[in-house]
Amino acid sequence: MNILLNENFDAQERLVWRAALSAALPEVRWLDGAAARAVAQTVRVAVVANPAPGSLQGLPRLELIQSLWAGVDRLLADPTLPAGVPIVRMVDPALSAAMAETALWAVLSLHRGFFRYARLQREARWAPHGQRRADEVCVAVLGLGQMGRAAAQRIAAQGYRVQGWSMGPGVAATGFGVVHGEAALPPLLAQADIVVNLLPLTPATAGLLDAARLSLLPPHASLVNLGRGAQVVEADLLAALDAGRLRHAVLDVFREEPLPANHPFWRHPRVTVLPHVAALTDPRSAAAVVAANVRAWAAGETLNHRVDRARGY
Ligand code: NDP
Repeated sequence: MNILLNENFDAQERLVWRAALSAALPEVRWLDGAAARAVAQTVRVAVVANPAPGSLQGLPRLELIQSLWAGVDRLLADPTLPAGVPIVRMVDPALSAAMAETALWAVLSLHRGFFRYARLQREARWAPHGQRRADEVCVAVLGLGQMGRAAAQRIAAQGYRVQGWSMGPGVAATGFGVVHGEAALPPLLAQADIVVNLLPLTPATAGLLDAARLSLLPPHASLVNLGRGAQVVEADLLAALDAGRLRHAVLDVFREEPLPANHPFWRHPRVTVLPHVAALTDPRSAAAVVAANVRAWAAGETLNHRVDRARGY
């Protein structure tokens, strides 16, 4: 079987991914864009990671696009994406587990003031402050998909009061509360000490966390953005931090990545910057997910985790 592998990896990443995918699907010939177009009539599957816009054109028999990434906003932004071809995104328990770890680390650090102590250490200041119990801290998790649910469960298991927010009512939750729909967001923000954003980037979530919504948070609340940078209006976040209306922001994702060296987030005392590493796709487990999906497609089975192009996730 010929499969197009279309990605924007560096040479080292490409070697690792090729090895993992070849081990998981030994029967496959992996083709780059030029090689795939040369045998276009034989290519029915494309495995992609942020492919260049336009690069999935010219494959008339394409039947499946498998994304190596969980977020598909960049893929869907390509106006030339072949219409009607099912897109399956990466859903891997190892990825959700990594995300839950990052979310828990951020919540614990914010709750216990560890980012503040790191700042005080740089100033050689010994300034202990009081401490609340975990069950006195309300954590709002925005987005209750694969990532949000794993994070909410992990945080709730440590004793925090967790409320999740989803689009529809369909989320079955254990250990945390769930609200859904646009009208539920303002009251949720109004009671949140820590907001963890794990929404997909769609027209409905772009710019969601703006001045108006940030102003609903209680004084000294904190934001953890692990979803996508464009969901936060950066100037509004900076203004809220500078005015002391927000205590701290932990940011893993940004409007522009890599974050430009002169961006104020880098040096802001109330911002912790991560270079989009909250949950990295592990080629070893992800290749097994790709293999299972390709084999399900070949057997004519229903595909799991299909992207709904109209909703954008
Ligand atoms: P899913 O598609 O599984 O879940 C999306 C969740 O968001 C669902 O609960 C959905 O609600 C909810 N949602 C979507 N739109 C809205 C809306 N307008 N209002 C309220 N709720 C909404 O996605 P994942 O959990 O797998 O991933 C989420 C995002 O995390 C990815 O799109 C990606 O951007 C980001 N990510 C970041 C990584 C990092 O390293 N920083 C790594 C991996 C992912 P419903 O259940 O009702 O449909």
